[in-house]
Amino acid sequence: MGKGICEAVDALFYILFPEKNFCLNCGRLQEEKFGLCPYCYTEILKCKLYTRILNTYPIKVAFDEVYSVFKYEKVAKDIVRRLKYKEKLELSKVMALFMKETIEENKIKFDLIVPIPISKKRLKLRGYNQALLIAKELSKLTFIPFNDCIEKIKDTKSQTLFKDENRWYNVKGVFDCKENLQGKTILLVDDVFTTGATAHYASEALKKSKAKKVIVLTFAS
Ligand SMILES: [Zn+2]
Repeated sequence: MGKGICEAVDALFYILFPEKNFCLNCGRLQEEKFGLCPYCYTEILKCKLYTRILNTYPIKVAFDEVYSVFKYEKVAKDIVRRLKYKEKLELSKVMALFMKETIEENKIKFDLIVPIPISKKRLKLRGYNQALLIAKELSKLTFIPFNDCIEKIKDTKSQTLFKDENRWYNVKGVFDCKENLQGKTILLVDDVFTTGATAHYASEALKKSKAKKVIVLTFAS
């Protein structure tokens, strides 16, 4: 079926079964578990990462710890792509529910949630910053405030166009933070962690604003 037809069928189902819950990923009628149907829930658990990411980086990174809930594959990848490119905004809540579980499992302590920003140009095109949506949902779930305090001061080409070390040059010095974060431990959130370049330069901006510690948490990696 074409995308338009699928969406029309989805819309019809919502009209016919308004009180039922639908899987926020695939649209199946479901028994709710983090907003997913039993199929998507089982599948996504197969992508789960059980350890903290311990990458090696080409430079000394400005963040202190990195956690990610899932490997960026299969259902986890579908969810990321649907939130980012298909305007399925409610998926930010699904992501936040899983991220909250990771926070609890790892006993992560922090004072403020900060999303990785996107440029004004991209914000205008997409209409929303997916990381900010996730930060807002996570704030509701954890009762810890969020602050969209990093600004992307230069527009950059998509990181997906670059390989490894070129990704580090692409985002160098593009973030700025004007808030005073003296003594605060920041939970820096994003949908995906790849090389760490974006997280590093965003963390550098937070540390320049006197943040004590930066812990990166992403939905997938
Ligand atoms: Zn599903």
